[in-house]
Amino acid sequence: MIEKTAAELSASLAAREVSSEELTRAYLDRISSLNEQLNAYITVCAESALEQARSADEKRAAGDSSPLLGVPIAHKDIFCTNGVTTTCGSRMLHNFVAPYDATVVENFNKAGAVLLGKTNMDEFAMGSSNETSYFGPVRNPWDTKRVPGGSSGGSAAAVAADLCAMATGTDTGGSIRQPAAFSGITGFKPSYGRVSRWGMIAFASSLDQAGPICKSAEDAALMMNVMAGHDPKDSTCANIPADDYTAGLENSLSGLRIGIPKQHFAEGLSADVEQSIRDALSEFEKLGATIKEIELPNNHLSVSAYYVVAPAEASANLSRYDGVRYGYRCEDPVDLEDMYKRTRSEGFGDEVKRRIMVGTYALSAGFYDAYYRKAQKVRRLIKNDFDLAFKDVDVVIGPTSPHTAFELGAKSDPVAMYLEDIYTIAVNLAGLPGISIPVAPVAGLPVGMHIVGDVFAESKLLNVAHQFQKHTDWHKLKPVITGGEAS
Ligand code: GLN
Repeated sequence: MIEKTAAELSASLAAREVSSEELTRAYLDRISSLNEQLNAYITVCAESALEQARSADEKRAAGDSSPLLGVPIAHKDIFCTNGVTTTCGSRMLHNFVAPYDATVVENFNKAGAVLLGKTNMDEFAMGSSNETSYFGPVRNPWDTKRVPGGSSGGSAAAVAADLCAMATGTDTGGSIRQPAAFSGITGFKPSYGRVSRWGMIAFASSLDQAGPICKSAEDAALMMNVMAGHDPKDSTCANIPADDYTAGLENSLSGLRIGIPKQHFAEGLSADVEQSIRDALSEFEKLGATIKEIELPNNHLSVSAYYVVAPAEASANLSRYDGVRYGYRCEDPVDLEDMYKRTRSEGFGDEVKRRIMVGTYALSAGFYDAYYRKAQKVRRLIKNDFDLAFKDVDVVIGPTSPHTAFELGAKSDPVAMYLEDIYTIAVNLAGLPGISIPVAPVAGLPVGMHIVGDVFAESKLLNVAHQFQKHTDWHKLKPVITGGEAS
C-alpha cells in the first residue's frame, strides 16, 4: 500500500480499503526501519500523526471526501510547523519550535493531510547534494553511497523510498527539480508567486518558491490544488485565482510545440543522460507533439547572475539570526559584539558563511553597481530569452541535471557544486514553472527530464507531464534499498 501514489491512496481511502490510521502506521514502521540509514527525516511526529489520522478517518466516516484527507505527507524542514521543531537544516535553528504554521502547512492541514514529520535539507536550502545539513547528509535510496540531490534531499529520498506518500520542497535555483531527478521521482516548481512563501524560512526572497515532491504529475496536481492561491500574508504572492490543476490533465498533446534549447544539450552533458532524454522526447512525438531546436543564448550567464543575487538576498535575510530573538545563542558571551560574533560563527556552517560573505560584499557601497545591479540586468536578458522562445513553443524540454547522482563527498569545490544547477537556475531567475519527471535510468540511476513552461502555465506543464506518464512507466520504477530492508 505505501508504494502507491497519493491519487491511488486517496481512492483506496475513499473505497475504505484502508484507513488513514493503518496507512500512517505503515509509513511510521517504514520510517523506523529505514530512516537511520537514509537520514531523510530530521523530526518524526509519530503521535500527532496517528491523532491526525484518526481524525481524518472520522471525517471520512462523516462524509468528508477531500482528496488528500488522511494521506500522509512530509514537509521540508524549512516550513514553520506550529509546535514542531523547524530547523532549516541548521545548528542556528536546531532548537527552534515554530509558534505558527506556514501557509503551505496550514493549507495541507485544512485539506486533512497527515503530517509524518519534517525532512532533512541543505542548511538554509543552500546546496545541491544535501551534504551541508547540520543533521548529516541524506543518502540516495537508489544507491546509498550517493547523494539524493539538494537542497530538498530529505523530501526526495523520503518519497523515493516510500517513507511518505508525498512531500513539500522549495526551489530557489533547482532544489525541487534536481533532487527529484537524482531520486527518480516527480518534482514541480511553480511560477514565482503562485504559492505563498509565508512561514517558509527565507533564503533568497525573489527566487524561493515552494512546490510538490511526489510520485507522479497527477499527485503534483492534487498537491497544487491545496498549495496554490493568493495569500494576503505574502505580498509577493500573486493575486490571481489558482486553476483546478487536475482539470486539464487529460488534454491531448496533439499539436504541442516543444522547444529543445541547444544550450541544454551542449558540452558538459553526459552522453547517456542525453540519450535517455532524446528517447523520451520521441514519446512526445508519438503523442502528436512537434519538436524544434531553440536558443537560450544567455543561459551560460545564469549561474553567475544567481550567485550574486541569491547570496545578496541571503545575506540580508540571515541577518536576523543574531542570538537575541530565537535560535542558537553562544555560551557565556562577554559582551554584545562577542555574542553576535560567536553566535553566528558557531551557528552557521561553512557554505552559509560563504554566501553571507559573498552577498555582503556584492551589496557593499561601491560594489553594488558592479555586481548586484549587473546581475539584475542579466536576469532580465535571461527572462527575455524565454519570452522570445515562448512565442514559438508551448514548453521547453531538456535534462534536469547534466548527469546522474554523484557519490557523497565527490564535489568538494563549491563552484563545481554551483554548476549542478546549470539547467534549472535560469527558470528561477525568470520566475517560470518547471517540472522534473523520471525517464529511462542510466546504469541503474534515475534521470530527470526538465519541462519548463511560460509564467503561470502550471496546468499546461502538469498536463504534458501527466500524458507522458500515462504512456510510459519510468515513474513507477522503485529503488531496491540495499543494506537495509529491501523494498
Ligand atoms: N543549489 C542552489 C544553491 O545552492 C539552489 C538551492 C535551492 O534551490 N534552494 O543555492
